[in-house]
Amino acid sequence: MKPIGPIPPAFSGQQGELEIGGIPVSELAERAGRTPFFVYDLDLATAQVERFRAALPAEIHLHFAVKANPHPSVIQHLMDKTDGLDMASGGELERVRDCGADMAHVSFAGPGKRDPELELAISLGATLNLESETEAERALAIGHRLGVTPRLAVRVNPDFELKGSGMSMGGGAKPFGVDQERVPALVEHILGKGADWRGFHIYSGSQSLDADAISESQEASIALAAKLALAIGEAPKSVNLGGGFGIPYTANDTPLDVEAVGARLSEALAGRDPILADTQFMIELGRWLIGEAGVYIARILDRKMSKGALFLVTDGGMHHHLAASGNFGMVMKRNYPVAIASHMDGEAVEEATVVGPLCTPLDRLAADIAVPRAEIGDYVAVFASGAYGLSASPVNFLSHPTAAEIVVKGGKITK
Ligand SMILES: *Cc1c(COP(=O)(O)O)cnc(C)c1O
Repeated sequence: MKPIGPIPPAFSGQQGELEIGGIPVSELAERAGRTPFFVYDLDLATAQVERFRAALPAEIHLHFAVKANPHPSVIQHLMDKTDGLDMASGGELERVRDCGADMAHVSFAGPGKRDPELELAISLGATLNLESETEAERALAIGHRLGVTPRLAVRVNPDFELKGSGMSMGGGAKPFGVDQERVPALVEHILGKGADWRGFHIYSGSQSLDADAISESQEASIALAAKLALAIGEAPKSVNLGGGFGIPYTANDTPLDVEAVGARLSEALAGRDPILADTQFMIELGRWLIGEAGVYIARILDRKMSKGALFLVTDGGMHHHLAASGNFGMVMKRNYPVAIASHMDGEAVEEATVVGPLCTPLDRLAADIAVPRAEIGDYVAVFASGAYGLSASPVNFLSHPTAAEIVVKGGKITK
């Protein structure tokens, strides 16, 4: 038998049929119109924002990284609760524009921005996090042609990385950002061209549960920002310290101590170089804000035995939820938090492997887990599914229908 990941506190300990935002799964399924579906409980996202505000220094701005979950209701909700939004494509930029986002607090990072994407960002007044010298030239030329002063920040590829992060995005040779030693010359160049230089973006990794590692990376980022500013001779208006706050997915993961991160960041900010005295610092988070607020619900289509092993075959799988199947940047396959949503408190009486409908052995939602007796028609829940779920999955693979997405807020359902 293999352990499952920790069921988030909002759902663990429930009895009988799982409820999300106080609404039973069967009712959610009826409203979704089909299974499988993702449901996002926005009140849980609000609670995360509130926890961040209580734990982190008041001067820190919180941004939502839209790539974690680009559902329009999620964007709308987190746009209202946070101080800004971070984009990773022109498509995301169009989405947040359509949600009515304040472009003064929208930034756009990504190593391969096409001219139409740069044009859209500049004409809307979003801040471009420049990833190279050639991208800077293209942005300056587009600004000139449009008659708009572009808002430009420089994404720095720092010499350090976020240790122990699920995905490292700094340190050594990287496609992201400009190597730190070339940043002063680039900033001097864009200042000389009359651009509105916003500051630095220093993003060093993702999915870390290690408070010390996050603190070290934040301290190193503040020190690096000061060093670069002194070399340039001008203070950055803003410094984006990145994010990287992780959530527990598998049995050995323990939640991040954000209060500890906040305490150390307060100290680091208090002791910062005077050149950064008036700089606005921000942290950009995706997964930590919305990950635990999402649940993926599938339905059991079949229960079958093979050579003594029980398989629960569901209508959901890796085509909607690549990460839960262990195929999205995971080194090793471990079980996500999963439960038979029809019998949350049912006593475990058998061992099962939960698979999806795809003709590939990769399509597995949980392996060798202890479950209560589960019948055809019962619901299966995969927790911690609010970030990098549907939008990070190969929905066209095998041409099965896509998953529905619904949102609950204040005990009410919206699509
Ligand atoms: C992906 C990404 C994020 C969000 O990462 P999470 O792990 O979801 O918090 C933030 N900033 C940048 C630049 C990213 O690429």
